[in-house]
Amino acid sequence: MAVVLSITNQKGGVAKTTTALALAHSFARRHSGKKILLIDLDSQRNATSILLGTHEIQPADSVYALFQKDKPTSSVLHTTALANLFVIPSNLHLVEVESQLTGALDGFFRLNDALQSLRHEFDYILLDCPPSLSVLTINAMVAADFLLVPLQISKFSIDGIQNIRDAVTTVNKRYNAHIKIAGGCLTLHDGRTTLSQAMIPEVEKILPILKSTIPRSVAVEEAHLLRKDIFEYAPQNKVAAAYEQLAAELEAIFAGAAA
Ligand code: ADP
Ligand code: MG
Repeated sequence: MAVVLSITNQKGGVAKTTTALALAHSFARRHSGKKILLIDLDSQRNATSILLGTHEIQPADSVYALFQKDKPTSSVLHTTALANLFVIPSNLHLVEVESQLTGALDGFFRLNDALQSLRHEFDYILLDCPPSLSVLTINAMVAADFLLVPLQISKFSIDGIQNIRDAVTTVNKRYNAHIKIAGGCLTLHDGRTTLSQAMIPEVEKILPILKSTIPRSVAVEEAHLLRKDIFEYAPQNKVAAAYEQLAAELEAIFAGAAA
């Protein structure tokens, strides 16, 4: 049965997509016998364009289909450059899902329902969330086993983290979900600033911070432009090493929870 990890923060530009892609590639590379699925829940389709290019994908072959009443077909699953990594791509029509689901009795459960059969097929399912606490993000929380929050430390990020924490509590209570917080991961991190160091204890009152932190490197942007994964493009880079460490840290958390 798959472990479902939601990569969530309602702020944009905190490296959610970069982290989802790096973890997907890290898991796929370290376990050739396991099947990994990345689901792009953002209508901006950044993860999709890096994995598949910018050509249009029909709604029925995209994440859009996961939110419809009819069961999605296997055409939503797309192969990638790695044999054991698959993606359910995004589609611009995803924006319509928000209004479709508002008022629907099962509006927060559609993704969870759609994942039931996929859970048997994959070992890891990663959800790349949009930059909002929208009905799509709540669907991700209802469906997920674990939540990872990429974050940059600032006064505003602390308010945002409290909102995520509150949403997790509500989702678990009201929707009988069982999402656990794996933790916050400091991304685009510049450890030298004393301000960000001083604020870490404040963040830790709300959510645990993982040991692995992701530094900045221009290699990330370069790899994205070339549509390569960071481990292929710059295996010796500090960001590649940091994401390897994060992948291992998360696997230890998953294993600890299962024990
Ligand atoms: P989000 O999905 O949260 O909006 P992205 O993953 O798209 O965030 O990242 C936002 C921007 O920051 C992108 O241009 C990305 O290439 C860049 N970026 C992400 N992580 C790093 C990093 N470690 N070093 C340098 N640039 C990064
Ligand atoms: Mg993104």
